[in-house]
Order: sequence, then C-alpha cells, then structure tokens
Amino acid sequence: HRRLFVGGNWKMNGDRESLERLVGTLNIASLHDQTEVVCAAPSIYLDFVRSILDPRIAVAAQNRFKVAKGAFTSEISPLTCGLGADWVILGHSERRHVFGEGDELIGQKVAHALESGLGVIACIGEKLEEREAGTTEEVVYAQTQAIAENVKDWGRVVPAYEPVWAIGTGKTTSPEQAQEVHGKLRAWLRVNVSDDVADSLRLIYGGSVTGANCRELASQRDVDGFLVGGASLKPEFVDIVNARP
Ligand code: 13P
Repeated sequence: HRRLFVGGNWKMNGDRESLERLVGTLNIASLHDQTEVVCAAPSIYLDFVRSILDPRIAVAAQNRFKVAKGAFTSEISPLTCGLGADWVILGHSERRHVFGEGDELIGQKVAHALESGLGVIACIGEKLEEREAGTTEEVVYAQTQAIAENVKDWGRVVPAYEPVWAIGTGKTTSPEQAQEVHGKLRAWLRVNVSDDVADSLRLIYGGSVTGANCRELASQRDVDGFLVGGASLKPEFVDIVNARP
C-alpha cells in the first residue's frame, strides 16, 4: 500500500510562542512511523520551526515564486528563504481564488520548485458552483494537466484534492465523494502519465479534515493522506497522522 502522507498547512497563523507550543506537542507525540508528516509554517518562522521540530517531521513552505531571484518585490525565492524546507505547497485554493493565481503561473512555480530541489504538494479542487454545475471532473483534470506538464520526476510530487467548498467550512466531502474524485484522478494519471505514476502517487485530501472524520476518509482506497488546515494547529493533528492503523 502507498505510504500515508499527512501535511499540516498552518496558513497565516501562529507566532513564535504558539508555534513553539505546537512543535512541543508534535515532538513528544507518538506518530505512526509509516506516515510521512510535513508541516507548512509561515515563511517568517520556517527556519525557527525547522530548528526546533523533531527531524521525523519535514517542513514545507506555503508558496514560492517561479524564479530564483530578481525584481519581484515581496516575493520569496525557493532558494533564499526557508532553506530548511523540503516541500512547498503550490496552487492552494487561497492562492488561486484570493490572490488570483492561474494554472499557468502555478505550473511555472511547480517546475521551478522541483528544479530547486523542493518536493511539491500540488493543490487542485473545484468551487461550489463548479460542483453544482457538474464540472468537477473537467476542472480538476484541467488543473492536474497544467501541473503535469511541468513535472518530470513524480516521485517528489503529492497532489492534494481540496474542494474549495470544503475548506475551512466544516463541510467535509463524504468519504464516497472524496474516493470518487481520487479514483478518477488516478484513472486520469493512468491514461495521461503512466501506470507506474498512477499506482505510486499519493493522492491526498484536504478540506475540514478532523480527528473525527479522518479514519473513514483514510480507509478509502485512493485516499492516501491529508492536507489539514485548522486541525493542524491543534493536538488532534496527531490523530490525523495516525488515521490509518
Ligand atoms: P481546513 O482543514 O481548515 O478546512 O483547510 C484545508 C486546507 O486548505 C489545507 O490546505
């Protein structure tokens, strides 16, 4: 079976003190040794978090620009900040819909992050009106295609299916709904990439995942882990890491 992958996306939350407390909880937690765990800290705290977090847990950046340096006021290069990061989250729905990032830019960021040596948690997902209009598949295939065009080494990529309507709303996708989309994505990968990639790629789910709903979601055959927002700031993140027996 594919190794479970659980990411905590702390988003724009926390300060030195609260993150130090959170890290303290994670450091002493018993974490399933078959689960790959990654925490995405705000950029300003990445080095700090890396320096205090148990090395069992990897760290991720939450976004990075598409080139290494230049006249891009306030942007952050994959190379110059958070050298301790192993991963970067790209294409998150908040980047897409609050900050207007499109598929082309996200694809460029994916290519550059991989070239820079970072693993990529690549987010896709439909909006509520797209689901209601019956275009979920079309939307997630197009987003996946824009990412796939920029990937050579799939070993360092973890797609995250995060339906926008389930993020931060308390409305989790039902396990069946998550499985349906994950299964279709895996079939898409089989046709458009390769059998190997389709079989080995971890497809993770994000959107109102909690300690209470993670087990049923993790028992779906094509759900290989989670990207967790709100609950990743709480001790229950440990239960989510340990979702699979
Ligand atoms: P919530 O878990 O708060 O819904 O956020 C999900 C998310 O956006 C993770 O990237």
